[in-house]
Amino acid sequence: MSETDSDSTLDEVFGAVADETRLAILRALWEERTAGEGRDHEPVSFSALREAVGVRDSGRFNYHLDQLVPNFVHDAEDGYRLTYAGRRIIGAAVSGAYTDTGTELAATPVGSCSDPECDGEIAARYGAGTVSVECDTCDAESVISAPPILVGAHDPAEDPDVLDRFVLTVIQKTVRGFCRLCSGPMEARVARGELDGWHDEGVTVVHECQECGSTSYTPAVATVIDHPAVVSLLHDAGVDYRDGLLWRETSAFDWEESVVGEDPVRVAVTIRAGGEELVVTLDETLDVVDYGDE
Ligand SMILES: [Zn+2]
Ligand SMILES: [Zn+2]
Repeated sequence: MSETDSDSTLDEVFGAVADETRLAILRALWEERTAGEGRDHEPVSFSALREAVGVRDSGRFNYHLDQLVPNFVHDAEDGYRLTYAGRRIIGAAVSGAYTDTGTELAATPVGSCSDPECDGEIAARYGAGTVSVECDTCDAESVISAPPILVGAHDPAEDPDVLDRFVLTVIQKTVRGFCRLCSGPMEARVARGELDGWHDEGVTVVHECQECGSTSYTPAVATVIDHPAVVSLLHDAGVDYRDGLLWRETSAFDWEESVVGEDPVRVAVTIRAGGEELVVTLDETLDVVDYGDE
């Protein structure tokens, strides 16, 4: 499919939901879907759906429903249900992604910088659809797209870790090979600049979506933080990696990473916790090739 074809198809698809009655149909199907336990996949009959939406004229209702089939609504023999795209539209509407553009969170302190050389404090903030977790002194920062509901319905002032956990969750989706935007396959590699002149100040990894082209950057340690050997080391030291500790200083845990070979490319990530040390060795595409205490 050429880009023009796919753009005009998208135009038609988005046009199909730009109508109050059709959005009400999607919402009604969603409410039916979530109304009772165990009813998730039961289709909704035409008459029940029409009643839920509150359109008397059956011909007019049928016309609008037809516009949503097959992209957003699946017409099963015994009724209607939302397709994946239909559920995504509802999810995006609830998350405020399309309508709630003014939500902000002022800088909220979340702890001290994880860089042992730096005395700075880490703060998280939210605005314009982006969470940033950054140090006020060095250039350590993470920036990730996020929906307004993250600060609208969760309460970062009460629970500042919510932003860290969100960022970690998105990084883990990326590291496990799913694009955070389109769920297409991601490929990871050591950023080119890292191989020109080795240094000890961390190794940047580029993750590229093979479908939509989005890219994200993480430190190499982000690709191994949930490797079983690392989880086990941290657990023995009383550290829960799920707390999103990569950004914050903790006396229980520190790490460093460096390029240790060029042909073939080898990256070593050393993690220390509870008086123990673990070295994880990665190849150019961040696959673990070795790990151990040396
Ligand atoms: Zn810092
Ligand atoms: Zn993608």
